[in-house]
Amino acid sequence: MNIGIDVGGMSIKAGIVDNSGNILAKYSVPTPRDGNESFSAAVKKAIDEVLKIHPVEKISSIGIGAPGIVDRENGVLVYSTNIGYKNVPIREFLGKEYGCEVYVENDANSAALGEFYASGDKKNFAFITLGTGVGGGVILNGKLYTGSNGVGCELGHIVTHARGTKCGCGRSGCWEAYASVTALMRFTEEARESLNIGDEKISGKTVFDEARKGNAAAIEVRDRWIEEVAIGITNIVNIFQPEEIVIGGAISKEGDTLLLPIREYVDANEYCAKHNDIKITKINLPRAGDSAGILGAAYIGRNIKE
Ligand SMILES: [Zn+2]
Repeated sequence: MNIGIDVGGMSIKAGIVDNSGNILAKYSVPTPRDGNESFSAAVKKAIDEVLKIHPVEKISSIGIGAPGIVDRENGVLVYSTNIGYKNVPIREFLGKEYGCEVYVENDANSAALGEFYASGDKKNFAFITLGTGVGGGVILNGKLYTGSNGVGCELGHIVTHARGTKCGCGRSGCWEAYASVTALMRFTEEARESLNIGDEKISGKTVFDEARKGNAAAIEVRDRWIEEVAIGITNIVNIFQPEEIVIGGAISKEGDTLLLPIREYVDANEYCAKHNDIKITKINLPRAGDSAGILGAAYIGRNIKE
């Protein structure tokens, strides 16, 4: 039995996961933002509570997916701007508490692993999450690929617009600056007048909702953003030709409205566009969804070992 911990800005979720990928129990606690000690204590509390719901005889491993920079080798959560911990030796702490192996991974990679294990029998796989930024992870030959220094596959930071909008990473024109939900909200704000939405508060759903009502300006903004998403996905197909790319993030709840035009664009534009016999990549919506972080974290150790 493995325990997966999904650390988010709002909550720390712990789950007990069996060897077939079933989550047997979950418990979540609010994420403290006042330093290492209260953070470690909150992780321990989440684990203790979930073990009360579903007692386990032997814990094989604990995995933690956390935002920011992680040191996999030493099991340390190095740094996260939005949670405020620094150099948390979480392996040492939890190893002593629970007497098992402890693994750490970046949260996007850990969610990618979760979707990978939920995707069935695949070897090459990519997961994209559209949110405040564009994140994701890549699995090659069954293994999470993180580059030679551990920070590879920053998929949001491939450039899709030369001299384009400045990105948080310092470069201009990154995919993230056009395909994140933040970008969608920027496009919506820029079109506020033609959208005829008065001073309505804008969210990622605004143009999707307006488009459903037949608002032509909203359809235009929505389709422009979906094209930006599809351009980056086509680039990923061209680089990896994975068996599957899964598109996650809360916006993926838009379902076919989002998925179908992306499939259509990629199908027409990827390198093998004219060669149906060698096309591989399927583009799909998440299977594990909100549980991807817990599931992936629980399987970090398994992915390293198997
Ligand atoms: Zn960037």
